[in-house]
Amino acid sequence: MKVIVVGAGIVGASTAYHLAREGVEVVVVDYLHEGQATAAGAGIVCPWISSGDDNHPDLYTLANAGACYYPSLISMLGQDGETNVSYRLVGAMAVNSDEAKLDAIEQMVRKRQSETPEVGEIRRLSPAEAQALFPPLNSGLGAVYVTGAARVDGKLMRDALNRAAQKHGALYQSGEADLEAKDGKVVGVRVKGQFISADAVVVTAGAWISKVLEPLGIDVSIVPQRGQIIHLEVPGHDTSNWPVILPQNDHYLVSFDHSRVVVGATRETGAGFDYRVTTSGVKEVLDKALSIAPGLANGTLKEIRIGFRPFGKELSPLIGLVPSMEGLVIANGLGASGLTMGPYVGLTAANLVLGNELDLDLTPFNPLRKVTV
Ligand code: FAD
Repeated sequence: MKVIVVGAGIVGASTAYHLAREGVEVVVVDYLHEGQATAAGAGIVCPWISSGDDNHPDLYTLANAGACYYPSLISMLGQDGETNVSYRLVGAMAVNSDEAKLDAIEQMVRKRQSETPEVGEIRRLSPAEAQALFPPLNSGLGAVYVTGAARVDGKLMRDALNRAAQKHGALYQSGEADLEAKDGKVVGVRVKGQFISADAVVVTAGAWISKVLEPLGIDVSIVPQRGQIIHLEVPGHDTSNWPVILPQNDHYLVSFDHSRVVVGATRETGAGFDYRVTTSGVKEVLDKALSIAPGLANGTLKEIRIGFRPFGKELSPLIGLVPSMEGLVIANGLGASGLTMGPYVGLTAANLVLGNELDLDLTPFNPLRKVTV
């Protein structure tokens, strides 16, 4: 069996890896557009603290499965000699000055913990205890601390998956893939004028998916949501084990090795594929970050990244086969949680191609619910 994967962000890389491990002949085609979401992602793997997910139970189920899948994936990658993946359980703190809000968060997380032990330990922290774990933090913020949360550098994880897929025989080709179909069946792709045939094509093209599917008359209503995100260096601090900070809005702080703290991010729907750092974007991100962690004011601004999240209005991802187009699999629309869900969604896409039994009901993620063929 020969399978083409279109797009090598976190979803495509994971799909290719899981297929190649099963001995499938895999060709990955990636254009590496400016603004690949995986390369810009902050790297928070913690689906348990966001109360917004209560309104989207299917999204929570998928994000939870994604977070829980990481440890076994890291172990598999280790067996393939890939240890530079940056994934680490550093814990996360939901921070707030309002004790009643923290009470509600604690209650929600304890309920989730009773169903998912991977949430880890839950502790209520005073402002002083919270600041001891994250020194730049505003001294007026208490916290609910959860030990099972992790962080991961999307670029390193993506590269590890792609390298591991290659070790299992996957071939990589750079360029833009155009789908080719005949008599209701996908037959392959064309890249730089060259036709590559396949038995199945998995489209993991992120925010660019509409352009890929358009020639087949398939509309998936996914749009780019621009995110601007800032990398700071805080000299003299060992940030490698600092917990993720979640202030219960769209903004957050995530720390990595080498004194790096990543703060973000804007959520700009309607900006299109405008790959620019904007004045208002930088102001918004820094204002929010400094209000939560004023101790970062003396940090060095090292880098600003821009990424286009594959965003659907419904928020629920699109994962599945397209019955009217034999051989076509779609795995897309992971929005703001794609680094959490991406590896598991890639595994699921691989299982769909292989016809394996799935451990997740994909009905809520049926790509046809948004598709007009
Ligand atoms: P992408 O990573 O965008 O990859 C798509 C790939 O397809 C690209 O390389 C593109 O070039 C390629 N492609 C497209 N069309 C073609 C074609 N025709 N031919 C060949 N190649 C093609 N998620 C979390 O879980 N936690 C976070 O903390 C987090 N923070 C984020 C912060 C920001 C600022 C952003 C932007 C995103 C964040 N996310 C986070 C979300 C996450 O990064 C995305 O949901 C995820 O990376 C999407 O992965 P993807 O593989 O679907 O798409």
